[in-house]
Amino acid sequence: MPQFGKCAICGKQATEQFNPFCSKRCAQVDLGRWLGEGYRIETPERPGDFNPENDEEMG
Ligand SMILES: [Zn+2]
Repeated sequence: MPQFGKCAICGKQATEQFNPFCSKRCAQVDLGRWLGEGYRIETPERPGDFNPENDEEMG
């Protein structure tokens, strides 16, 4: 039986399929951390959420 390290996310025994993680879920969690977006995956940007060109002075 092959030996794998522990999952970097939850500490469980990593599997051959998802090494060095124990599951696809943990692999995605690590990917999210790497991207700095947590669980946000494929989230479309909201138009107009930040628009410095529309910063009109009033008064
Ligand atoms: Zn895990």
